Amino acid sequence: MHIAFIGLGNMGAPMARNLLKAGHALTVFDLNPTALSALQADGAAVAPSARKAAAEADFVITMLPAATHVRATYLGPEGVLAGVRPGVPLVDSSTIDPATIRALAAEAKRQGNPIADAPVSGGTGGAQAGTLTFMVGAEPTLFEQLKPVLSCMGRNIVHCGDTGTGQVAKICNNLILGISMIGVSEAMALGVKLGIDAGVLAGIVNTSTGRCWAADTCNPYPGVIETAPASRGYSGGFGADLMLKDLGLATDAARSVRQPLFLGALAQQIYQAVSQAGDGHLDFSGVIRQYQAKEEPKA
Ligand code: NAD
Repeated sequence: MHIAFIGLGNMGAPMARNLLKAGHALTVFDLNPTALSALQADGAAVAPSARKAAAEADFVITMLPAATHVRATYLGPEGVLAGVRPGVPLVDSSTIDPATIRALAAEAKRQGNPIADAPVSGGTGGAQAGTLTFMVGAEPTLFEQLKPVLSCMGRNIVHCGDTGTGQVAKICNNLILGISMIGVSEAMALGVKLGIDAGVLAGIVNTSTGRCWAADTCNPYPGVIETAPASRGYSGGFGADLMLKDLGLATDAARSVRQPLFLGALAQQIYQAVSQAGDGHLDFSGVIRQYQAKEEPKA
């Protein structure tokens, strides 16, 4: 199949490579020429715009930072909708708000293009290994059509419901994740301050009712989990700024339906403090540093 792939960043580039490996013909576009050259070296054709990339494609995938980039890429004069043939399915895998993808779907439908939201979880490791989870919002026939293509990049392709529900699933999951990481950080910092060894405490939590992914896989205390970002200076994980973005999506979406998010709103402010402290590029588990006094050795 001839696929147009737009947005070749930390996630998009390895996802596009997995499509090439699966034997698909790829035309790629990104604003960053270095990202384009790297994919070209791997066998992709390069287009000068999203419009040109989409023009010959049987399938279009986008993986962009935020809603503003998604709108520009689909609706701009050099965008996907200006070039794509009617009937070609479109998939946006960026994490954005449900309202934007629903508005875009109405626009795309007018010219005969079905569109799905398919945000992912699994991080850059999952993108490289082709083991991502896709949370798909699409009409059932479109879901069946795009499943074989998404399967080249992911292990779990989950149909969440109609357009927008993939984003709903994604922001609700990350709402839990952002809050639970703060809870684990608070408890680990308190336990150590009160004199228990961090490894012993984590061992108890992870065989007790406090157990969760933030405690047993990505524990924020250094040295507790060898493979966690905390054990390598909080590098190479899921940036606190990305968590801040996702909590912003959750609180905005909640406001649109007058749904209170007590802890979500507080968590958003705590990650904002992490970002203000200059740690937004570090893994979000670095939020534990908010609990450590300046004179203490940092976790
Ligand atoms: P990134 O910033 O590394 O990459 C985004 C790419 O989009 C860049 O190469 C940029 O040049 C390109 N771009 C921006 N505007 C463009 C435009 N108008 N036309 C063409 N290209 C454009 O971001 P990422 O880490 O790859 O994340 C992409 C999306 O996936 C985000 O919505 C993010 O929240 C989500 N996500 C990221 C992770 C992660 O661990 N990084 C995990 C799950 C989901």
